[in-house]
Amino acid sequence: MRPRPVVAIDGPSGAGKSTVARALARALGFQFVDTGALYRTVALLADENGVEWSIGPRLAKLVDGHEFAFDSDGALYLDGRPVGEAVRSPRMSMGASEVARHAEVREALLVIQRVIGKEGGVVLEGRDIGTVVFPDAEIKFFLDASVSERASRRFEELLAKGRDVTLDQITREQEERDRSDRERELSPLRKADEAIEIPCDDMTAQQVVEHMLAIVKTQFSFD
Ligand code: C5P
Repeated sequence: MRPRPVVAIDGPSGAGKSTVARALARALGFQFVDTGALYRTVALLADENGVEWSIGPRLAKLVDGHEFAFDSDGALYLDGRPVGEAVRSPRMSMGASEVARHAEVREALLVIQRVIGKEGGVVLEGRDIGTVVFPDAEIKFFLDASVSERASRRFEELLAKGRDVTLDQITREQEERDRSDRERELSPLRKADEAIEIPCDDMTAQQVVEHMLAIVKTQFSFD
């Protein structure tokens, strides 16, 4: 067993994984890793380099040709530059879901994720952390909420950033992304058998974090 655990948080888009994973990591003094940002950055890199999202081997080559690193607070850096908001657009959400279908891309990003997390003391959030990336994670959560709750949270978030979007559009995109993530052949979104499920429609992010924190602390003692 690692001296400090790997905490895996999986779930569909818009369930609030990033917010709670970041806060949980801060409370534990762990590294936070937003694995979706890796897939989003591959989609952005592809756009910038004129590579189609449908060509797995070329996408993987792009990954191999660049350096991905997270700072201690979980912000992703590409070749030393923060990727920031550029990967947060609805287009990059769809692009991430498209590039994530390819075995070559998943394999290349798997290596990066395992290097970051192997020593423990890390909270990773994504779709396949507890099932594929760290099947041996010491603690696994599955955060879920209804489509309508997730779409309205995402809508509010994008509005606050000044994006020109409608709730209808966000709901449709969310459903499409859910379908793509759950039904894809490789590493589909799935709750690991031993993952603790947290249905969070009626919970605030803070309540979710406190709930997770209590579980981690009762199961592990570490420095
Ligand atoms: O979490 P986020 O919405 O940023 O992820 C964007 C997309 O990246 C997801 O819809 C999913 O298709 C893909 N992804 C994945 N595996 C992960 C994290 C994200 O396939 N571990």
